[in-house]
Amino acid sequence: MKVVAVANQKGGVGKTTTALNLSAALALRGQRVLLVDLDPQANCTSGLGIEVPDGSSMYPVLTNEATVHQQIVPTGRENLSLVPSEMDLAGVEIELARSDDHLTRLRNILQGLKPNDLFEYCILDTPPSLGVLMTSALAAADEILIPLQCEWFGLEGLAKIVHVIDQIRGSDANPNLTLEGIVMTMYDGRTLLSRQVVEEVSRFFPEQMYTTMIPRTIRIGEAPSHGKTIFEHDETGLGAQAYGALADEFLRRHAVPSPSLAAR
Ligand code: ADP
Ligand code: MG
Repeated sequence: MKVVAVANQKGGVGKTTTALNLSAALALRGQRVLLVDLDPQANCTSGLGIEVPDGSSMYPVLTNEATVHQQIVPTGRENLSLVPSEMDLAGVEIELARSDDHLTRLRNILQGLKPNDLFEYCILDTPPSLGVLMTSALAAADEILIPLQCEWFGLEGLAKIVHVIDQIRGSDANPNLTLEGIVMTMYDGRTLLSRQVVEEVSRFFPEQMYTTMIPRTIRIGEAPSHGKTIFEHDETGLGAQAYGALADEFLRRHAVPSPSLAAR
């Protein structure tokens, strides 16, 4: 199981939309995915149209009152499971900050899932701040996927999160953390600004930047209000095509080369 944190400390850049629709796309491609909603705003949970009873979140897991298995709920979609979130999860920041293992607690919990072989990918949706939940996610992840909005302030934010990734790597918590990718969101090819931002990012991060870009579309924006993924809301539209292509590119990047090909 690979743990992928979808992270950017800026809000409104497409983290939740990307975590949710990439997870859905991977599930449609036969990958077993556990989506973990680590944002107290619980947008992944509501965006999937899931209602959960109080106490359904990582909160009791992070405070050692429940196991992660107890908090996993089915989403009604094949191959896609969820650990939901709720407003109360915000309180765990304070509890975690008090403990001396706060950086590694989530990491240890998720590492505990690996031997079970229940999921190929664990995707973490993270809150828009550099608080304890976010740093826990970075410490727990094998890889980071950064959604980046095509605007100038997006570039400033990128520099900041790359700095935080370096700090996490430099700590004992997670020296092997990799920046798996940067995906441009809300792209509008008609604007010079969108094209300039893409050019700038590809200059500094040529390896990491996904060639797939997520366009700004009305359908992507409205899907969560129906509790649907983009594949359920507008199966053949541009948004579904883009997130499908993103999942294909993601899987190509993660493909282990077959021995015969590697030998050539
Ligand atoms: P974050 O999780 O980073 O705060 P969201 O994924 O919630 O960002 O996106 C912020 C808002 O923008 C949401 O209302 C979402 O529906 C909308 N949105 C995200 N991506 C797109 C897109 N490609 N096209 C149109 N609207 C989008
Ligand atoms: Mg979000």
